[in-house]
Amino acid sequence: MAEHDSKNHGTGTRLVGIGRRAEWTGTAEHPGAVVNPPVYRASTHLYPDMAALRDHPANEDGKFYYGRRGAPTQWALAEALTALEPGAEGTVLYPSGVAAIMGALLTVLRPGDVLMMIDNAYEPSRAMGRGLLRDFGIETRWFDPADVEGFAAAICDRTKAVLLEVPGSLTIEVCDVPTLSAIAKARGLTVVLDNTWASPLGFPALARGADIAIMSLTKHVGGHSDAMMGSASAGPEWYRKLRIRAQGLGNVVSPDDAALMLRGLRTMGLRLAQETASALALAEWLEARPEVAKVLCPMLPGSPGHALWTRDFSGGCGLFSFVLKGGTSAARDALIDGLSLFGIGYSWGGFESLATPVDPAPIRTASPWPLPGLDAGDRFGVRLSIGLEDTADLIADLERGLAAWSAMA
Ligand SMILES: *Cc1c(COP(=O)(O)O)cnc(C)c1O
Repeated sequence: MAEHDSKNHGTGTRLVGIGRRAEWTGTAEHPGAVVNPPVYRASTHLYPDMAALRDHPANEDGKFYYGRRGAPTQWALAEALTALEPGAEGTVLYPSGVAAIMGALLTVLRPGDVLMMIDNAYEPSRAMGRGLLRDFGIETRWFDPADVEGFAAAICDRTKAVLLEVPGSLTIEVCDVPTLSAIAKARGLTVVLDNTWASPLGFPALARGADIAIMSLTKHVGGHSDAMMGSASAGPEWYRKLRIRAQGLGNVVSPDDAALMLRGLRTMGLRLAQETASALALAEWLEARPEVAKVLCPMLPGSPGHALWTRDFSGGCGLFSFVLKGGTSAARDALIDGLSLFGIGYSWGGFESLATPVDPAPIRTASPWPLPGLDAGDRFGVRLSIGLEDTADLIADLERGLAAWSAMA
């Protein structure tokens, strides 16, 4: 085990060392010979003799068996992610964030069960409730992220789990995870939490009350917009069940992608710190602009969710939204088309900045849009994922986009 991986060390030191077991980065004669675990491209795992084949350990972590259970490249990534999540016993890797969410839900739910889902969940998570889960006899009910009492009142005998996401997609609203989790646990529910936004660097999901912490590694961990993966970390009880269900679903991640994720992980702390600082500067700048009705960035003092964010989070990221004052959809198109440093695309968390329109009205079913405090006409939003470009250049770019908006609005 690398010396860096000590709970006494700071996050940067730990990000350098986690997952780099000497037996995974070298040979028997020269343990730890290279810095990173090699890319083990392996479907077949070989046994020295029949006795070894018959004696192979029954489904243990970190033992060669067959390609679908991974090899040191994937094991190193899973071990590193477990080390980052306080309270985790292990981490299961999935081919995407969506696969991780579905893999967790199919572990905790059975036909006839009811799932409570937060209303600002990632749209493909909502689609699971309307689609595959429903087809399998599982009912999903959505609840307002701001309404703790409404959540408690909606729990029934058949409710078995809750899917939280914090902050939620598009509107970046922060829900009260410790309170919602306490209510859920008192009623015997399992708490599944999508922690893609902050990652365990900014929000220790299990310590705040979640039973299963999910991340789309595609975003911050990969960080370079070139690979997709998801993860679910949990304590002993749920980790084993997640692992068995993931095996049953045939989930496996490629060693090449696992190596890319490990590479991204080493610099994630630096990237998140830089993106957070830049996002905060841009959020402050946008807040002062006459074209902007509201900035939806919980890191910004005075913004919705700031009090909860200050209480529960130790870090943020570069993803936030803002709502324009009045205007039209076409004017917002002009704004986004008027940007030259922001790509137009659905992902986020990469080194390059992105902008997308935000239109929660047709998506949300349990809570209002525009959010309380906004006028009915203030409904055209823009989501920004801030990358590693210089903040001053991004501000100048947004200034051009807002000029294009004003020319049309
Ligand atoms: C992108 C995203 C996912 C899904 O991740 P993929 O790797 O794209 O499948 C899940 N949750 C949130 C909050 C996301 O933004």
